[in-house]
Amino acid sequence: MSHIVASRHIQTLTGKYRHSMSTRLSVTKKCIFCGKEYTAKTLTTRYCSHTCNSKHYKQLKREEKLNTYKESFEKKNPEPSVITLAVQQKDFLSIDETASLLGASRRTIQRMIAKNIIRVAKLGARSIIKRSTIDNLFI
Ligand SMILES: [Zn+2]
Repeated sequence: MSHIVASRHIQTLTGKYRHSMSTRLSVTKKCIFCGKEYTAKTLTTRYCSHTCNSKHYKQLKREEKLNTYKESFEKKNPEPSVITLAVQQKDFLSIDETASLLGASRRTIQRMIAKNIIRVAKLGARSIIKRSTIDNLFI
């Protein structure tokens, strides 16, 4: 029993010895994952241990996946920003456009019209709202 322990100890020492021979530099670095200080074997090492390395790798993969999802979601739904941009350059707006510009519902806009907060002009069957009316709401 004691023999096994002893030989194991020697193995560890030999390992350490070999290790220090192959090490050309020894830099104290901070693990980018857990922030713990460790002695870097190479300049490229960024983690204190393989555990941190793989944990961080998994975390990055997860974030990457999330970003990919977000990107594909934005690609699938590019309309809102495009509409908003077009609407922002118009002088007269429909109720729908006003709602989208203010980030309010159509109902809210109609209620504001009913309360005379927003004045509308009739263009045939359509109600149009002067852009400056919306701007003046904020003055
Ligand atoms: Zn670490």
